Amino acid sequence: MTSQADGAPRSAVTPQAAGGAHAAGGAHAAGTARAAGTGVTVLIPELTAVVGADGVITDPMQLRTYECDGLTAHRCSPGIVVLPQTADQVAAVVTACAAAGVPFVARGSGTGLSGGALPRADGVLVVTSRMRRIIEIDPASRRAVVEPGVTNLAVSKAAQPYGLFYAPDPSSQQICSVGGNVAENSGGAHCLKHGFTVHHVTGLEIVTPAGELTWLGDGTGAAPGYDLLGAFTGSEGTLGIVTKIVVRLTLIPQAVTTLLAAFDTTGHGGAAVSAIIGAGILPAAIEMMDALSIEAAETAVACHYPVGAGAVLIVELDGPAADVRSETAAVRRLVTEAGAFEIREAADPAERAAIWTGRRSAFAAVGRISPAYIVQDGVVPRTALPEVLDRISALSAAAGLRVANVFHAGDGNLHPLVLFDDSSAVQSAAAEELSGAILDLCIAHGGSITGEHGVGVDKSRYMPRMFGADDLDTMQLLRCAFDPAGLCNPGKIFPTPRMCGEVPGIRRGPHPLVASGQAELF
Ligand SMILES: Cc1cc2nc3c(=O)[nH]c(=O)nc-3n(C[C@H](O)[C@H](O)[C@H](O)COP(=O)(O)OP(=O)(O)OC[C@H]3O[C@@H](n4cnc5c(N)ncnc54)[C@H](O)[C@@H]3O)c2cc1C
Repeated sequence: MTSQADGAPRSAVTPQAAGGAHAAGGAHAAGTARAAGTGVTVLIPELTAVVGADGVITDPMQLRTYECDGLTAHRCSPGIVVLPQTADQVAAVVTACAAAGVPFVARGSGTGLSGGALPRADGVLVVTSRMRRIIEIDPASRRAVVEPGVTNLAVSKAAQPYGLFYAPDPSSQQICSVGGNVAENSGGAHCLKHGFTVHHVTGLEIVTPAGELTWLGDGTGAAPGYDLLGAFTGSEGTLGIVTKIVVRLTLIPQAVTTLLAAFDTTGHGGAAVSAIIGAGILPAAIEMMDALSIEAAETAVACHYPVGAGAVLIVELDGPAADVRSETAAVRRLVTEAGAFEIREAADPAERAAIWTGRRSAFAAVGRISPAYIVQDGVVPRTALPEVLDRISALSAAAGLRVANVFHAGDGNLHPLVLFDDSSAVQSAAAEELSGAILDLCIAHGGSITGEHGVGVDKSRYMPRMFGADDLDTMQLLRCAFDPAGLCNPGKIFPTPRMCGEVPGIRRGPHPLVASGQAELF
């Protein structure tokens, strides 16, 4: 993805930019590690034999296309890019990497916002964009089998003639791949009711980091034994490469209502969110935008939201027509009680699209009112929304930087956008600091450092703020069970690229799980 031109958020050079990207993944865990930029080229003949000459990219200019994902602050040109067309080819590529001790990274559409698909200079980038077959749409069992490079929206389009759709709907759904969605456990506006990717994946064909082609889950979602499918979903490309995905398809709802409610403050909007959920209503989506993000959207797409709004809520209800009618009436009453000064209800699909236009454009629109911005992704309990938004506002004032809030309010999944001038080193550093302080705020309120964008390379340094050493070591046990050589997307998620079996410096004895006989290090 090439950032601004594609509408991806601009995130300018930060203290951990370019060089930081190398540093983060620089010391990969395998004992067979090679010096950056060398070694990997010996694989060119073998990889060419697997995927053909037109499936291998080694030209430095072309390699730069893949140097970052949607988070452009982290960049690194890959050693080699391969474009396999089949699962067998992926397996052969990974087998070659494993045999040579060369690290590899999977990449779908490169829209990730945490540097998860950041390549390695000494590694192979496995890009799935040529694996775009929708293998099966099975309306009777309401499932689809797709290859990893298929875009999210393409699944719903293929299912639509059968009255079905694929529910997880990241805002990037026109371009992001289902493989990337699985790796990030992606969500979207309608995940409040319909669930995240993990709730819709019932089987995965994967290539393990050793190069073995195998299946996780049996396609029914009811396989006995450990839930490795659940563990793999959201593992950010660190446990293997997905080559086929079995997904659930959902009935297109009989009726949909979309409401836009305008409030004086985000506090009133937040109170409305709690009131709706507290009343036992589960909308498909509840999205919030604050005054600054409304201003940005107006500038970009003239969405004509109510004048003077300090916050707007978009509430979408779907389901059987009778239910939607009664819930719509209840939501109208609840938002009025919470202080809404104007409520609009879409009368038809065109008006619905008009309401959503401002929300959908918001990330890119902020690029029009600021030279650069950081997209943050944190989670707080819904009930804490008013307080956390007030605190973000205070932090923003103290830092002298504007913060626009546009987010999945129903899930408590915040997306504060920290605006700054990337030509100023002082502002860049302050933006990073403010961004981290917002995550601290989320943690302090019992939330999380990421709701849907993943940890990747960008947030690995924040993991110790949320998890203790024991937690992180336990996660490493799982990672090492899949990838003992540490070759599969190394340098991501965890703060230090620790070798499998390595006991961390600060620990004096064995890991508690090892001591209790529940796990072993290898
Ligand atoms: C404008 C914009 C809006 C967005 N909105 C949302 C949103 O609403 N909700 C949301 O959740 N995200 C959102 N995102 C983030 C991003 O689109 C998602 O994380 C998406 O799932 C990434 O898919 P991708 O194909 O681009 O993956 P990539 O960016 O290519 O890769 C992401 C991660 O997946 C791994 N990966 C990719 N393919 C495979 C595979 N086949 N096997 C194993 N690992 C693999 C990579 O190694 C990397 O770690 C948004 C991004 C942008 C730019």
